[in-house]
Amino acid sequence: MPDSQRIRTLSVLLAGAALAAACGDAPVAPDPAEIPVGTVSGKVVAPGISAFGDITARVRWGTQDETAPVAPDGTFAVPLYDEVEGFGTLTLEPGSEEPVHPGWILLTPGDVNGGQGTVVLAPRTWTIDAGTYAGTEVPIDPEMAADPRVLPSYWGFYFPYSQQGFLQTVTDNTRWMADLRSWPQDRFPLRLALDHPGSNTALAPEDSAAFWAHVTVMEEALGFDVFRPARTEELQILGGTRRAANAVLVQIDTNLPVRGTIRINPTDPQTYALRADARTWSGTGVQDFDLVSSDIWYGVVQFDAVERLNDRQLVIHELMHILGAGHGCSWASVQTYCASLATDVPTPADVAHLRVLGELRALELEHRTRWGVAASVFGHRVVTLGLAPIPTPSLVYGPVSRPGDWLSPTIEQPRLPESRGFTLEDGGFAGR
Ligand SMILES: [Zn+2]
Repeated sequence: MPDSQRIRTLSVLLAGAALAAACGDAPVAPDPAEIPVGTVSGKVVAPGISAFGDITARVRWGTQDETAPVAPDGTFAVPLYDEVEGFGTLTLEPGSEEPVHPGWILLTPGDVNGGQGTVVLAPRTWTIDAGTYAGTEVPIDPEMAADPRVLPSYWGFYFPYSQQGFLQTVTDNTRWMADLRSWPQDRFPLRLALDHPGSNTALAPEDSAAFWAHVTVMEEALGFDVFRPARTEELQILGGTRRAANAVLVQIDTNLPVRGTIRINPTDPQTYALRADARTWSGTGVQDFDLVSSDIWYGVVQFDAVERLNDRQLVIHELMHILGAGHGCSWASVQTYCASLATDVPTPADVAHLRVLGELRALELEHRTRWGVAASVFGHRVVTLGLAPIPTPSLVYGPVSRPGDWLSPTIEQPRLPESRGFTLEDGGFAGR
């Protein structure tokens, strides 16, 4: 506890004692400046961690800078002594020995005395529990997982962009978005069908055998049974563009202009959505951020030729997208466009970051928190790296944003965005 706070807490206690002692006589009023006007209360949670040690909760609001320790059960309550307006921030600051990354959250006045919020913190490391890499401890890096150099990032963050083959062009770098996606854990192994009726060319048994051999390699790396073979006749094929409920279809379309592409269901913003106007508090070029975290319940993979089923890298790459992984140039990966980092099986960093994304999403949903994966990304940037909470893309192809109006009085509460589809084209995937 900082000295200033210790003295103030002490003076509040003394004032209370004086008030009690004076009961029945003339009451002694405590100094109003020493009585909290409210508290910001919350609880931290993290995958695989049930007891917390050295973590400080800090609220900065205007000139106020107040802290409180996080209790072993994760709860905290930071007192504020002055009225608040506009935005404040809450940071969770772990000591160097703690196994979690920091968290960063934007506060609005309704959060003071607004009940207990939950903050999901990312683990600093993840130990892979099964498969090829069982026992491997992998550093978890929220900044690298959200790195927007290749869009979308591994954890699904992106600036709006258009894609033509290999070239991704940022079309709006004032808006930072994320589709944080994964399948509910109880759906595995997912039913997967090579979709003969949905393909415009014949699939031979040897093509199927080659495809499933790649799936087996992928499952050994991920350490669990991801897919099980299904026939399209067993699946519930939905109307509109061909797709199957709670299953994955793999199709060959020789008219496809790219080598491979995937579709998953649009996000359901009712699951978890956060959208805010960043102009009043951010120092970056980003003016809005717009995050949606929701479950996947169908996936379709398309290849432009039957020979692609023999391409281990392409097959696994597209199936990793079906599981919710984006791209990246941050580590050796089956999901990278950066040739020197390319592999044809998921690497330990791929496996651990995909698993942690799923774990963080599950905690978001369980605790109905307004700030989930984003709090970890922002916390790592602000507290650990000393950066602005939201990145600016290092490669800007699109129009440069105009300076924001930093004094705009607009305060937008989080609201539900429109549903977005999510497609990826891997036309120029040039890893090998
Ligand atoms: Zn891709």
